[in-house]
Amino acid sequence: MPTLGIDLGGTFARAAVVDEVGKLIASSKVALVERSPSGVVETIAQAASDAVMAAGVPLGACGVAAAGQIHKDSGVLSVAPNLGWRNVPLGALLTDRLGQPVRVVNDLAAAAWGELHAGAGRGSQDMLVVFVGSGVGSAIIAGGRLVDGGGGVAGELGHIKVVPGGRRCGCGELGCLEAYAGGHNLIAQTRELLASGGAPEVARLTGGDPARITPVTLEQAAEAGDVAAGEVYARAAQFLALAVANQVTMLNPARLVLGGGVLRHCPGLRRRVEEGVRAWSSTTSREGLLIADAELGDDSGLIGAALLVK
Ligand SMILES: [Zn+2]
Repeated sequence: MPTLGIDLGGTFARAAVVDEVGKLIASSKVALVERSPSGVVETIAQAASDAVMAAGVPLGACGVAAAGQIHKDSGVLSVAPNLGWRNVPLGALLTDRLGQPVRVVNDLAAAAWGELHAGAGRGSQDMLVVFVGSGVGSAIIAGGRLVDGGGGVAGELGHIKVVPGGRRCGCGELGCLEAYAGGHNLIAQTRELLASGGAPEVARLTGGDPARITPVTLEQAAEAGDVAAGEVYARAAQFLALAVANQVTMLNPARLVLGGGVLRHCPGLRRRVEEGVRAWSSTTSREGLLIADAELGDDSGLIGAALLVK
C-alpha cells in the first residue's frame, strides 16, 4: 500500500504519496507562512491533502522528515533550529490533525533511508551517508538498519569538534565541523573575506556584493588563486575530508554516499572529500569501499520518510 511522506523544510512543507519501491505517485508543496507549531501543522495538513487528492489511492501510514533533534519514540522535536522550536510534540499534533499515526524522523535519517531503498544505496546493508548542504550531517546504516543511538541523535557529523574553542556553530557550541564546512558557514566566511578587503577574486566574482556569495564563489575564488579564499577553502575541505575518512575508519561501510547541495555544486570539494577518504581512512576499512553520489536529490527525505513507515 502506498504511504505518505512529508518533508518539513525551513520554508516549505512538501508531501508525496510514494509506492512500495519509492516511486512518487503524486506530490505537492505548500509555503510555510505561519511558523508557529499550529500554523506548521495546518500547512502540512494542506500539503498532505493536496498530494493524497492528486494520487487518488488509499493510503497507509505517514512519515515526516524534519531537521533537528527528534526524540525517537515520542516524535517530540527537542530542537528544530530552522523553525526556532524547542520541545514541540509534532508527532502527536499531526496524528491528531491527520487522524492517522504519524512518525517523525530526522531529515538526514529519512534521506539516508530513501537512498538506501530507492537511490544510490540499493543493495547495500552497511552504508555511510554524508550530506553537505546548509549544514553538515551524516546517517549510518549498519546491517540494513538505521543507527539512531540512545537518544536518537547518532551520526551528527556536523557537530564533531575540529577546532576546540573555534568558530561558533549554529548549534551554539564552538569549533564544530559545520562551523567551517557547512554551506551557511562557507558563505559567512567568504563574506568575512570580502569585508576584510583581502580577497580580490571574491570581490571580482561578486562585484563586491556580499548577497551574491555562494559556496561556489569560494571554490571558484580559491581555484583562481585567491590566497585568502584558498586558505578558508582548503581548511574547510581538509576538515570535512578528514572527518569523513575517520568515520569510514570507524564504521567500515561497504558504501559511502555523498550528497547535499554544496557537494553537488562544488565539484572540487566533492573531489577533495573522495581523495581524503582514499588517503586518510585506514587501508583495511576502505578495502572494497564504493563511493557514490546521492541519486534522489531533493526528494530523498520525502521518499525516505514514506518508506520508513512501511
Ligand atoms: Zn555544532
